[in-house]
Amino acid sequence: MTRAAVFLDRDGILNHATVINNKPFSPRAIDEVRIIDGVVSRLESLKKIGYLLIGITNQPDVARKLMRLEDGIQINDFVVEQCKLDRLYCCFHDDVDCCNCRKPKPGLIYEAVRDYRLDINASYLIGDRWRDIETANAVNLRSYFVDYGYDESRSQYATLTFPHPTLALDHIIQSH
Ligand SMILES: [Mg+2]
Repeated sequence: MTRAAVFLDRDGILNHATVINNKPFSPRAIDEVRIIDGVVSRLESLKKIGYLLIGITNQPDVARKLMRLEDGIQINDFVVEQCKLDRLYCCFHDDVDCCNCRKPKPGLIYEAVRDYRLDINASYLIGDRWRDIETANAVNLRSYFVDYGYDESRSQYATLTFPHPTLALDHIIQSH
């Protein structure tokens, strides 16, 4: 039997990104991590409906030596615990590493699909940057873009766009 998942980008969807000059950055230490209000209760609702909750995140600051791997892992573990995710898949590489897991490459999605026998056609991805949306598009996954108006390029090809992650989550709950 296959199951549907909601793929959740981490920074900007589950916890607040650190925004400097209207550009988003990852928190680099556990005491900078703030879960976004209203997200946890909606994730609980999605879980009750039967969706698996799968985090997928790029954390290149580790490869860039701006953050320690231990801190990256500690933040991931904290977010998993707070948001009661079934699993979080993380890419700690940067572009020069030429990995297949750094979004917009869909390696993390493929890994989750294999591990959990996921039904891509019944699943969703929520993210706040073009890399998230392009990852979804690479595997024909419905993409919900949360538009914070960051000063950066964006994908034009999101399935739907929302101003806040809680509204994207509500849409999936109500679509069920
Ligand atoms: Mg993000």
